[in-house]
Amino acid sequence: MKNYIIRDPWNIIEDQFRAEHNEFSESIFSIGNGRMGQRANFEETYSGKTMQGSYLAGVYYPDKTRVGWWKNGYPEYFAKVINAVQWIGLDIQIDGTTLDLAQCEIISFERRLDMKAGVLYRSFKAKMPNGTEVEVTAKRMYHLFQSDTASLQYTLRVLNSDADLAVRSYLDGDVVNRDSNYDERFWVPIAEDIQDDLVLVTETKKTTFRVEARLRNVCYVGGTAQPSGIKRKEQFYVGEELHAHLKAGESIRMEKYVAMVSSLNHPLDKLTEAAQNSLEKIASKSYDELIQLQTAAWARIWEESDIQIEGDVAAQQAIRFNIFQLNQTYTGEDARLNIGPKGFTGEKYGGVTYWDTEAYCLPFYLATQEPGIARNLLLYRYQHLEKAIENAGKLGFNKGAALYPMVTINGEECHNEWEITFEEIHRNGAIAFAIYNYVRYTDDREYLATHGLEVLIGISRFWAQRVNWSEQKQQYVMLGVTGPNEYENNVNNNWYTNKIAVWCLRYTLEVIAQEQTQDEDRLYELLSRLDFKTEESTLWQHIVDHIYLPEDNDRGIFLQQDGFLDKELIPVAELPAEVRPLNQHWSWDRILRSCYIKQADVLQGIYFFEDEFDMDTIRRNYDFYEPLTVHESSLSPCVHAIIAAKLGKEDQAYEFYLRTARLDLDDYNNDTEDGLHITSMAGTWLAIVEGFAGMRVRDGQLHFQTFIPKNWKTYAFHVQYRGTKLYINVSQDDFEVKNLSDTKISIIFNGEQLLIEPEWKS
Ligand code: BGC
Repeated sequence: MKNYIIRDPWNIIEDQFRAEHNEFSESIFSIGNGRMGQRANFEETYSGKTMQGSYLAGVYYPDKTRVGWWKNGYPEYFAKVINAVQWIGLDIQIDGTTLDLAQCEIISFERRLDMKAGVLYRSFKAKMPNGTEVEVTAKRMYHLFQSDTASLQYTLRVLNSDADLAVRSYLDGDVVNRDSNYDERFWVPIAEDIQDDLVLVTETKKTTFRVEARLRNVCYVGGTAQPSGIKRKEQFYVGEELHAHLKAGESIRMEKYVAMVSSLNHPLDKLTEAAQNSLEKIASKSYDELIQLQTAAWARIWEESDIQIEGDVAAQQAIRFNIFQLNQTYTGEDARLNIGPKGFTGEKYGGVTYWDTEAYCLPFYLATQEPGIARNLLLYRYQHLEKAIENAGKLGFNKGAALYPMVTINGEECHNEWEITFEEIHRNGAIAFAIYNYVRYTDDREYLATHGLEVLIGISRFWAQRVNWSEQKQQYVMLGVTGPNEYENNVNNNWYTNKIAVWCLRYTLEVIAQEQTQDEDRLYELLSRLDFKTEESTLWQHIVDHIYLPEDNDRGIFLQQDGFLDKELIPVAELPAEVRPLNQHWSWDRILRSCYIKQADVLQGIYFFEDEFDMDTIRRNYDFYEPLTVHESSLSPCVHAIIAAKLGKEDQAYEFYLRTARLDLDDYNNDTEDGLHITSMAGTWLAIVEGFAGMRVRDGQLHFQTFIPKNWKTYAFHVQYRGTKLYINVSQDDFEVKNLSDTKISIIFNGEQLLIEPEWKS
């Protein structure tokens, strides 16, 4: 764990440079705008520990699979949203010596991420090896108001002596991925141009995404704009060099305005025009104006999605950090994009899509944005249905059965560990559940009929083929799976997977029946296109009625899988601290044989399907599984926070909230240097809105059942629901609900039916 991020409601601050933790801080201070993003690398040269990372959404490379032993069915490649052109670079020479914090004496240092405005600040004072002291203030933004552009302002003052300065501002396309499987380079150079703006065009190998980066530099010395400098180009590189003689106390200010466009969004012959237009839009503004535009754009986001907590600055800072990062990662206007578990903050997980999106992120976007944004997340999978059918086909399934990939960017499976690729099939269920969740929230039945049902049928066909009839049990079983708890592989009858499979079959049958009454012609057109036979629904119903769900009647719990109780059950609390996290200390074999649970598994199912269980059942399962859970997936604490809140275990709910909310800020799992846990950040939001405020949708109505942690004075948030917008404020002994829309709404609040008139009426 780390404990040096300074607590502040709107800012993330570090007030010292810790070279050994630089990669952690680079993750924490990452910025982005949905279209692109970056780790908080320095502008100037840095020869110390750093992981360079700038990413463009959707621009990926199929990195050839690397495994020890090939298994039939493994994918050919792992898609990675790769490190792209490095646009922030400033090579600064002071009296002939490179400014490099790894080689200077650092007098002071501060990094600050202003989440309200979406601006990253950095300032430092340093002594060069020759004794010259410099002071630097840098600001940087990925513009939300013009998402294919970014900018920075970098001011350097010499403090104690005159100095000759040479500054080279450049674009560098010769970037690599640390995790490249065969040390391959992913980019080829296409063109460099320095006639006017500095232009660098590069292209990915194989996927041929062409990217044009266009940079305009502006430089002031002592407040006076300087003529352009000497421009230079090389393969993969364009730069402009400026020289200045600064007297002690004088400063130089560099501004970099950059547009980055790609063939993902523009035809090849229009790339240049698109880059020029976007660059003009920002370069015609002063830096202060850009900051104002950025602040206004972020204000609109905060207006919808902020959660205010009074009385607990650690909790307040953390929830804003989570909301901020989610909005930096996905803005939802492009259904080809999705939410990588690390967003634009690192290489791990390749920046591509996991079940995290459907299981954790969807509700956040549903409640904080207009429904089109969440719908785009569903459309992403709809567009991949054909590939999911092909994917299932490769594994031997047929007749339209769809298995969505564990990891994907374009619908093709990328994951290559048999116990996950072939066995962690519960992801299919989460994709079906997301359709249900979306329709439950929005009542968008049109989507269900025109898109959702087709996906549900594909997934249901998979389940119907994946189970088998056990003569011995006279029930359907599902063998050889991995549940959400990846610390068990190749188990039989994972309760969660069986549960979600059978739920999915039942739901698909229900939707077919509903559609029969809604629009029979449309239904028959779909069913005949899919060659759907009545025998299929008969079989599905038989599976629904005869599924085996392992339980232990003595303890009154669902069994995570067959044989779970044969394990030696020693609570996590009795493990010595030095073996945690287990995945960094124990052999895989030991982990697999142990009872320790990586992340919510049975409890994930209880969370999804809670209305099927009474409180005692929920409590017994929570009390049994929670003490065995090590939460070594970031996706775990939030589910526990929500269930603990429901059970009235307020201290635990709060503890799990802090753990999910400050997971990265405090580096709970000692892995934030790889990047932030973006998808679990949606879980943080869930922990407050579904956990503390108890928000649910039941029978088309919003319900709240609130509690407030002891040390909070109030918490407040907005939710959008079916055309209305509500403001909820919960304090220790009161609550307030405002309706900020035009129509009245009826909700259930702490068990009471409330009819809430629009605010302007009441
Ligand atoms: C978790 C998975 C998750 C993945 C990406 C893994 O550690 O076990 O459930 O999908 O991380 O977040």
